[in-house]
Amino acid sequence: MSASQPQHPADVPADDVPADDVPAAVSSDVPTLLVKIFGKDRPGITAGLFDTLAAYSVDVVDIEQVVTRGRIVLCALVTEPRTGLEGDLRATVHSWAESMKMQAEIISGTGDNRPRGVGRSLVTVLGHPLTAESTAAIAASITGTGGNIDRIFRLAKYPVTAVEFAVSGTETEALRTALAIAAAKLGVDVAVVAAGLHRRAQRLVVMDVDSTLIQDEVIELFAAHAGCEDEVAEVTAAAMRGELDFEQSLHARVALLEGLDASVVDKVRSEVRLTPGARTLIRTLKRLGYQVGVVSGGFTQVTDDLRERLGLDFAQANTLEIVDGKLTGRVVGEIVDRAGKARLLRRFASQAGVPLAQTVAIGDGANDLDMLNAAGLGVAFNAKPVVREAAHTAVNVPFLDTVLYLLGITREEVEAADTQED
Ligand SMILES: [Mg+2]
Repeated sequence: MSASQPQHPADVPADDVPADDVPAAVSSDVPTLLVKIFGKDRPGITAGLFDTLAAYSVDVVDIEQVVTRGRIVLCALVTEPRTGLEGDLRATVHSWAESMKMQAEIISGTGDNRPRGVGRSLVTVLGHPLTAESTAAIAASITGTGGNIDRIFRLAKYPVTAVEFAVSGTETEALRTALAIAAAKLGVDVAVVAAGLHRRAQRLVVMDVDSTLIQDEVIELFAAHAGCEDEVAEVTAAAMRGELDFEQSLHARVALLEGLDASVVDKVRSEVRLTPGARTLIRTLKRLGYQVGVVSGGFTQVTDDLRERLGLDFAQANTLEIVDGKLTGRVVGEIVDRAGKARLLRRFASQAGVPLAQTVAIGDGANDLDMLNAAGLGVAFNAKPVVREAAHTAVNVPFLDTVLYLLGITREEVEAADTQED
């Protein structure tokens, strides 16, 4: 860099100067004016305000603008005008606001916004509906941990109301614990993640299949064709509650399918029902550059088909053995059980070149727990209580695309991704 070039304050080595010590746009003793405009939104408000301020040669320190149901709140933090002109500026801004049928408030002070506290987190709340009572309780829980709410922003109004709180001044882990308790009491879904650049970094999402990506348990679809549906469903339920070793239960259930004609595989594939929002979730993630995989305690005979149909990057499951056109009642190859799912998440992450901290795992059963805990963000999706309690976060609305909001992706971004060319 040549000596004549100005040095960016943030370019000094990070070890020497913590980010919060980077000088603000104005020093703390410089007089500033906070100009707030409120009223019916219409074209020309922002241009009009800054045109009015321009006559006083003030500098802009900060701007925030929000429009809610047609009403605009525009806040401008500007440096004070030349001595003697503040009264004139105030009168001119008020008269401009009046001519626009807006309300104006001008508050004198010094410096920029107070620096945000250390420890930054993003809290996403999903409500269906989101009640005032829940919002009050969540805000109180945040405050209770010593956190400060810096910003609140609606991510989506459909199919649930999703709101994001930017919080500083408290540890993400402490916030997660406090809010998990509040969320369980209130019946809303709350996710807490550390704020930072990594949230926007390319990631990998790995999903369970049965009762997560799809509404069915695949082995029960096979069992229906073998006439042993009830027997299999009973063993599945016990395994998912964590009462039975998964591998034993897998072998016991698959044994009941012995002798079934292999043509049943095609029938089962056509019977599989995707979870509402599954296509939207996968399509949006793919268009935003995420890699997406599935791991299943079910069968490759179905997951390979899903990989093809949905354009998944990774898929792994158990494989039903088929000999002479019949199911043998055995599985072959690597067993995908609870430990296997976590192992596959690590393998997919390494193949995708994504650090484990930037992975998201989604699942509903006890056999998903190791995978959910190994991932950067583990999401229990309409999960059994044992899973819900142990996971980072839980989604209890039956729409898989709501997981996008936990990643900070807005409904508008989802819809914009939909209009992109393939
Ligand atoms: Mg499942």
